[in-house]
Formats: sequence, structure tokens, C-alpha cells
Amino acid sequence: MLDMPQPAAVRAIADVIAMGAFAASRHWVPATSGNFSARIDEATAAMTRSGVDKGRLDAGDILIQPLGAPLLQGSSAEAALHVTLYQTRPDVGAVFHAHSVSAAALGRACLPEGAVILQGWELQKALSGVESHEQSVEVPIFANDQDIAALSHRVLDRLAQPPSADLRAPGYLLAGHGLYAFGATAAEATRNYEALDALFQQLITFRSLSA
Ligand SMILES: [Zn+2]
Repeated sequence: MLDMPQPAAVRAIADVIAMGAFAASRHWVPATSGNFSARIDEATAAMTRSGVDKGRLDAGDILIQPLGAPLLQGSSAEAALHVTLYQTRPDVGAVFHAHSVSAAALGRACLPEGAVILQGWELQKALSGVESHEQSVEVPIFANDQDIAALSHRVLDRLAQPPSADLRAPGYLLAGHGLYAFGATAAEATRNYEALDALFQQLITFRSLSA
């Protein structure tokens, strides 16, 4: 009997392909960078394979990763950052990671402060859990690190602490690298990434005009 994919897996694979295509359309994943994943159930997630063009994904480029098992052969170097989020945050259903210019640059510029604090921007309301431009929203920043296990621990430790603002954004920055955004669904993770990236561009422009 053929081992047929389950409907939840088929949906998750389609979601990952759609996230990659959207990111590529925005020029957020140059030179095969970025990685995307969608939860299938409490024990598995669909994740992009390493080294493939995220704008031209097909089902063969998506790995079905058991969350409690070692990373599969061909996994992205950053796959552990996805897996640990799914393991510790039952509310996370999808993770959208890309290397947009504004995220890489602003994260590096603001690394000494440890966070970007967003306040006074209408588009903040596009972020999950934010209801007003008057609320302050923390986007944590971490120094980039090739030791993904160590980086993953630092991320989880920080996300377990209260935010340094009214709320914490559904995402975090890696300095000089890019942005991780997440959400309950692929559509929500995508919206959170798009909103954060636009907010970063607004902040960069504001600071350049105010300098
Ligand atoms: Zn990356």
C-alpha cells in the first residue's frame, strides 16, 4: 500500500511553498537564503530543505521533520530555530524567516540596545496581539551566531521573559542577518513578517529624516 501524505501534511507543504514564493516576490530571500516551515501536528512540521531557491519550491524541497528527533539530512542550518519554537510554543503554527535588507541592517544598527521598540506607527496593528499605535512593541535582537544550538537557547530564554515594552512582537531579529516571524497560521506568520519589515523601513526612513 502506498504511503499517502495526510491532508494536514499536504496543506502544510502548500503553505511552505506559498511562503517561499511570497518572500521571493519581495526580494527577501536572495541567493537561496531564508527558510520556512508550517506545523503539521504536535509532533511534525514541514520545513524547507537547505540550499534551494525559495521562490521555486516544489514538494520535493520540503522535509517532514519529526519535532522530537534529530534534524533530517538536508535540513537548513537554521532548522533548529524552527523546531525549538514549535516544541516550546504550542500557539506557533508557522515560521517565516528571510533576509530582507531593512531587517538585516536595522538589527545590526540596534544590536547594542538589544531590541527595536516600535511605538506610534499605525501598521503596528497588523501584528498579532497589537491593538493600538500607542502601545510599545518590543522586537528582540540577538547577535548572529553560527552555533545554532546556542543561539536557539538564547532565543527561547529571552522569549520566556516578560517584554521590555507593553508587548512583544511575534518575531525577533538576528543582527546583520534577518528576521524570524511566526504566527498561528502561515498567513499570520507571513502578515507579521510583512508588517515588521514595513515598520522597519518606516523607522529607518524616519530616523534618516530626523538626523
Ligand atoms: Zn537566515
